[in-house]
Amino acid sequence: MTIPEHRKWMINRLLPGKVAYTDEFIKGMEEFIKFACSQPKYLYEKIIRCPCKICKNIKHFTPDEVNVHIFKKGFIPGYWYWTSHGEEAPSINLNEHVHSSDSISHQGCIFDMSSSSQSNILAEDSEHVNRFDPHKVVIDGIANCIWSKFELARPSWKKFPESTREMWFEEFKKKFKWLPHYNDAIWSNINKRASSKTTQLFQDVRKKLPLKPHWMGDAVFKEMKVYWESDEFKTKSERNKENRDSNVGASLHTGGCVPHRLIYKRMKEATGKDPSVLEFYFRTHRKKSDESWVNEKAEATYNEFERKKQEILAAQSASVVNGETNSASQPAQLSEMDI
Ligand SMILES: [Zn+2]
Repeated sequence: MTIPEHRKWMINRLLPGKVAYTDEFIKGMEEFIKFACSQPKYLYEKIIRCPCKICKNIKHFTPDEVNVHIFKKGFIPGYWYWTSHGEEAPSINLNEHVHSSDSISHQGCIFDMSSSSQSNILAEDSEHVNRFDPHKVVIDGIANCIWSKFELARPSWKKFPESTREMWFEEFKKKFKWLPHYNDAIWSNINKRASSKTTQLFQDVRKKLPLKPHWMGDAVFKEMKVYWESDEFKTKSERNKENRDSNVGASLHTGGCVPHRLIYKRMKEATGKDPSVLEFYFRTHRKKSDESWVNEKAEATYNEFERKKQEILAAQSASVVNGETNSASQPAQLSEMDI
């Protein structure tokens, strides 16, 4: 991607002799910081992504720190549109980026939205700086729709009136495009994703209390707080916590919020072949640092897998000894579903 005229200053940082900064860079940086600080991300969290050559839009810092980084190191090459800071990039048809194994919500979609993740595509085009994750684009898109018009206090996604959820879906349609026959599938998918995204958004808000998020009006925020302080909510979250505890981290995985599909893709990229079921299981359930299990359940599942495997191998060798070669008497092979 070629550099647009109005961003040429980004690569003209130092004066000849490299002893001082150019005026256009100093001026441009002011513009960049001002722009980044006008975005919801900053207004809400008081930090922005750092597009310096070292941080590559992955790390977050205060605007002052980011300013220092960029003056010292310069921008990542190719970051001509500030899409990680809320700027819209020229429309890109992402169909060719969408992997066929991705969930239905991505199939046949043309994303013309310039959410934060689009920087990844631009960066990928230029330097393989970042990885594009269509899943994140969609989830961020959902959050943006919810934020755009949050006028009712409700405890969860399902408790919002259908009309409100549909209104958000209409917003979503403005940002993403797909073929009409996917409409129902996408609506049902969005309902699922939005439900967990809403839970997460509320959790984030509660963690930062008494800070009001930029997307809630005063009245709604007040009402939400009353609900979160209510006995009803406390009993419910206590019960959820007990359920989680009794499950000993059933949903815990390494990789944090990185979708498994993406981890799989990265493993494949790294080795050039599909990872085996076990390799993938180790990667997602054992810590990289010391190869310890993420929790007891992950370990128990693996042990059970090994036990079954040994049992089957023993049965197989026993049947060979007995001269039974009839395939009908073979024990079922282990499949991915056993893990
Ligand atoms: Zn940096």
